[in-house]
Amino acid sequence: MEPKELIFNKVNGSFVDGYGIRTTIFLKGCPLHCKWCCNPEGQSFQQQLRYLADDCNGCGACVPACPKGALEIEDGKAVLDRGKCNLCGKCIEACWPGALRYAAQLQSVDEVFSSIIREKPFFDHSGGGLTIGGGEASSFPDFCLALIAKCHGNGIRVAIDTCGYTLSEESLKALDAADLLLYDIKGIDEKQHIENTGVSNKRILDNFHHFTEIGKPMIVRLPVIPGCNDQPEDQEKVIQLLKNAPNVERVDIIPFHTFGSVKYGELGMPYPMPEDAKPLTEKDVADYAQRLRDAGLNVQIGG
Ligand code: SF4
Ligand code: SF4
Repeated sequence: MEPKELIFNKVNGSFVDGYGIRTTIFLKGCPLHCKWCCNPEGQSFQQQLRYLADDCNGCGACVPACPKGALEIEDGKAVLDRGKCNLCGKCIEACWPGALRYAAQLQSVDEVFSSIIREKPFFDHSGGGLTIGGGEASSFPDFCLALIAKCHGNGIRVAIDTCGYTLSEESLKALDAADLLLYDIKGIDEKQHIENTGVSNKRILDNFHHFTEIGKPMIVRLPVIPGCNDQPEDQEKVIQLLKNAPNVERVDIIPFHTFGSVKYGELGMPYPMPEDAKPLTEKDVADYAQRLRDAGLNVQIGG
């Protein structure tokens, strides 16, 4: 049977997820829980209900629609008791402003493919293609392999955005099948990595060395997060890792931002970063970029 997975976003015309003009799809589910994650809806492998309080006009239509009594109106806004909710979706149908919605849609490989094939002229013109992100794309190897095969059969190149934490041979096969990897390095110190993401980085680094050995083209992404991995000694360890990896075509430094913080509230999740987290200054980021360039790497800020 054709694989189906939960997709929580799709972006056409992206310039930041690989080379050229790209379409990026985001698969729902990730083995990591990074403190700075800007796509918290991509963490759980399960469907979730988002409640966008700003879009709620207090009409109350969702309250009688809910068979579980999980919704009520307080001070002109709906209030959701997630402990009672079974994700039946009745309130979504009742809520015409769209304040209640599923976090993701279940889609087949065919459905995804038919929505991206129309972008092919842009891919061809720009050297772009499809990027499969998440969440963690390699957690869905059957879906990725089937979609990559379809894209390759139609002349579309595919990148996978990965945290590198692949647990199975099938997942490695999916990453191997991509033309390009966008590979996140979130830190070299193992203890710090566990604190920041919930998992050891041993497998991530082992897989990084595997892909270097086989010469897999790679853009490495370096999130630079205050209090997590932004000290000079953290940066030096990253430089030492990357300078001996000829398959790394580019390094993208991703400065800390809080763009996704509002989504935590919509999902009923606490935002893990401290409110007063201070990102590196532009000068500090530029200095880091220069030290990477001095090590012979091609560096971009942002991406
Ligand atoms: S998804 Fe179903 S159970 Fe959950 S709040 Fe909406 S109507 Fe109630
Ligand atoms: S139906 Fe939608 S807009 Fe109306 S109260 Fe419920 S959540 Fe708010």
